[in-house]
Amino acid sequence: MFFNGRVVTEHRKIAEQLFGHRLESNKVVHHIDCDSSNNKLTNLLVITNRDHCALHQYLREQRALAARTKTNWKKGIKALTMAWIETKGAVVIKLWEVKKLVASKI
Ligand SMILES: [Zn+2]
Repeated sequence: MFFNGRVVTEHRKIAEQLFGHRLESNKVVHHIDCDSSNNKLTNLLVITNRDHCALHQYLREQRALAARTKTNWKKGIKALTMAWIETKGAVVIKLWEVKKLVASKI
């Protein structure tokens, strides 16, 4: 999809529209439920490329663990993600919180 004269993914476009400027190239918009078609704001957060890779590595490990214990890892994916962010002290921007701030006109 074209946005501001360049090809941009839908989720990145959503973030950039919310911020009113381009995202830096080292920032990634992550889908919390790992479903790239779910672009609801409550499913999107901005994270650095480096932390994004580490997060996906962690989620792969959790998925493998869940497969061994035959548990539904997708059910707990948001809690796992938020706990990982907290533990690592990763800086993220939760798009649903940005939307709330914009709406409150602070
Ligand atoms: Zn991701």
